[in-house]
Amino acid sequence: MTEESASHTDGATDDRGGGAASDGGPDVRRLADWDAEALLDVRRRYGSPCYVLDLDRVRENYRRLDAAFADADVHYAAKANALGRVLDALHDEGAGVECASAGEVVRALDAGVDSARVHYTAVNPPAVDLDTVVELWNDGVAADVTVTVGAEDTVARLATRGYDGRCCVRVNPGVGAGHHEKVRTGANAKFGVPLDRAGAVARTAAQAGMDVVGVHAHAGSGIHDADDLDAHREMVARVGDVARDLDAAHDVEFVDVGGGLGVPYREADDPLDLDAVADATRDALGDVDATLVLEPGRYLVADAGVLLTDVNTVKDTPETLVVGVDAGMTTLARPAIYGSSHALRNVSADAVDDAAREADATRGGDGRGEVRATVTGPICESSDVFAEDRPLAEPVRGDVLAVGNAGAYGYEMASTYNSRPRPATAVLEDGAATLARRRETLSDITTLEL
Ligand SMILES: *Cc1c(COP(=O)(O)O)cnc(C)c1O
Repeated sequence: MTEESASHTDGATDDRGGGAASDGGPDVRRLADWDAEALLDVRRRYGSPCYVLDLDRVRENYRRLDAAFADADVHYAAKANALGRVLDALHDEGAGVECASAGEVVRALDAGVDSARVHYTAVNPPAVDLDTVVELWNDGVAADVTVTVGAEDTVARLATRGYDGRCCVRVNPGVGAGHHEKVRTGANAKFGVPLDRAGAVARTAAQAGMDVVGVHAHAGSGIHDADDLDAHREMVARVGDVARDLDAAHDVEFVDVGGGLGVPYREADDPLDLDAVADATRDALGDVDATLVLEPGRYLVADAGVLLTDVNTVKDTPETLVVGVDAGMTTLARPAIYGSSHALRNVSADAVDDAAREADATRGGDGRGEVRATVTGPICESSDVFAEDRPLAEPVRGDVLAVGNAGAYGYEMASTYNSRPRPATAVLEDGAATLARRRETLSDITTLEL
């Protein structure tokens, strides 16, 4: 846990961690807060579409969270954005890593994270994942990794491979929170063992020689409002009860309440009240003698990222103004998969000089009017739509649009459908942009063919 010793003069969020300012920056970074010229510069240098990730903002988000949950251990859910530079930055801040696959375990270890701070959450794990993780454990590369099991089967499969290391039992708390049905995992039987089976699964693991060190639950993604908070409180209370039960027979070190801290995807949404979540969590957990572990993904990276995309087509139709951009559901899948809303901004219109603005002060931006547009990608699917009926400074061909809150589950969910290479990723650090991952090429895609 980082304990910053900066002064209070930066206006950072209130720190509950005992006297040190968190340097956590503002509670939220809106799409409007990004510097238009800096984004256009990234576009000019690295092409379109391009993800931009501000590592300083990632660090701020971590510090704010770490300050609000001063006595908790924060493990970054790498699946939100497993870019090496992100893992490096969060490792540097003191975060552990929660991994959804053996691949993420390898990437976390590559980033220099001590295996004692690496948790592998094995959800219906493919054999190759178990083989890889157990081999890393056996070799001593990941001697202190914790494997979180959500099925008795997984315990047996680990035992067969000779694993007798650290094990955490994932329970299904039977209560879910979240912004969309597909991410409400708490009430989904795929994840975790039923509450009343936790003791039996822990016993089986212990009989196989494993150290049962933790209890885990993750109730979907997206705690935003009071209803979600109530579900969260209920979930934490149930997990706390399991931990107290198990602690009699096992040495339970931690209670992991998962991720799912929400971010305001819509510009009108309020940022999450972290202190309220922290208070609710502590209250619900009660007097359990174990460390609280959190596994935030999107909270740390979502508002640190934008997606830049060129306007290729502006087409007026009887139904709507269609604005076609060169990013699509293959670049950012969330709108197509979850129906999620991402803020959009015409960066080119915002970046024109003040003279043009003054020339027509009655209109927005550079004097362009506002239109309502349907913003679509280039993929041959009707779900390839970023927004409908969205107000936007009137786009012209060649403009650059920015898509907000694209730092989480953006590149990670990108595909090469339609033989479309995945985009480049640039990072900002101390205000300077560098290319962190080059754009994929068609030969990257075809190189696998025999
Ligand atoms: C996806 C996931 C997380 C992170 O979820 P966010 O909504 O990004 O915070 C944490 N823990 C587990 C087990 C997950 O599957």
